[in-house]
Amino acid sequence: MIVVMKQGASQAQIAHVTERIKEMGLTPHVSQGQFRTVIGAIGEEAVAKQEMLRQIEGVEQVLQIMKPYKLCSREFHAEDTVIDIRGIKIGGTHCAVIGGPCTIEDLDMLQTIAKAVKKAGARILRGGAFKPRTSPYAFQGLGKQGLQMLCDVGKSLDMATITEVMDPRDVDLVAQHADILQIGARNMQNYNLLREVGQTNKPVMLKRGLAASIKEWLMSAEYIMSGGNHQVILCERGIRTFETETRFTLDISCIPVARIDSHLPVYVDPSHAAGRRDLIESMALAAIAAGAHGVMVEVHHCPDKALCDGPQALLPEQFQRLMDQIRQVAPVVGKTVE
Ligand code: PEP
Ligand code: MN
Repeated sequence: MIVVMKQGASQAQIAHVTERIKEMGLTPHVSQGQFRTVIGAIGEEAVAKQEMLRQIEGVEQVLQIMKPYKLCSREFHAEDTVIDIRGIKIGGTHCAVIGGPCTIEDLDMLQTIAKAVKKAGARILRGGAFKPRTSPYAFQGLGKQGLQMLCDVGKSLDMATITEVMDPRDVDLVAQHADILQIGARNMQNYNLLREVGQTNKPVMLKRGLAASIKEWLMSAEYIMSGGNHQVILCERGIRTFETETRFTLDISCIPVARIDSHLPVYVDPSHAAGRRDLIESMALAAIAAGAHGVMVEVHHCPDKALCDGPQALLPEQFQRLMDQIRQVAPVVGKTVE
């Protein structure tokens, strides 16, 4: 449930409500809005508890959250969440693009691609070090070595970095090297992993599972947030359908749905949805037009030689063109590309 405090409620009144919530065996989450404070009380709810809270001095009203997810719901937090990574803003009216290779192959290639995506205007660099490959015989990523390269290149170019973490035992290591932790589509319902990243203070990009409903996706976000980490970015990356012309089917409708039901930033990864580079531009622009806060795009200067996902990687000049177009589309839907 949500306890809405009266405008001008004192800190002592807020602290008192928080204490009472704890005594009821619930977990309080205080959200200080521009005009009033809202306190979420998460746990086993009961009408009697609502009644008790309603009586407390300074309380305006007590509302039940109707959705099965609470912390990530718009009911709990009316304003868009904006995540700040050293001045790079994710969410709200901001549009920040993520670009980079599918996987880090060596330092040289990472530097070349990073320079190109930065020049085009991307402020966040992607690069996989732990790769979730369908085949156990395919290249699995450079692991710790790759993380170090990502960290070094990100620092030298003043870019934020994102990389996937697949194993709960690697969460600390990845958090030491990257600015954003990525949970891959195949791990969206790996609850131990979600709980582990929920214990960090790093933003987490949560990819939608290959066959996950929007509700299941938001329930997974709730897992992360219930651990205390509220910096979650949702990312649609295509879902399984009967269509075979594309690798997956990009669910454009999930963007407005997620934005209506949740306050979290919503990203789109057209690369993994399409699986082919000739579709990326239109899918990325459609995502921005539909309200996405940014896109994550795979780029490779020599895709024919890429160790992973070459057919879907944009060439640097194609990425530059896409950035130029995003800069035109984003303002039409009230976003600024920074
Ligand atoms: C990726 O972004 O590197 C990736 C493997 O994506 P997904 O988990 O969406 O397949
Ligand atoms: Mn990839």
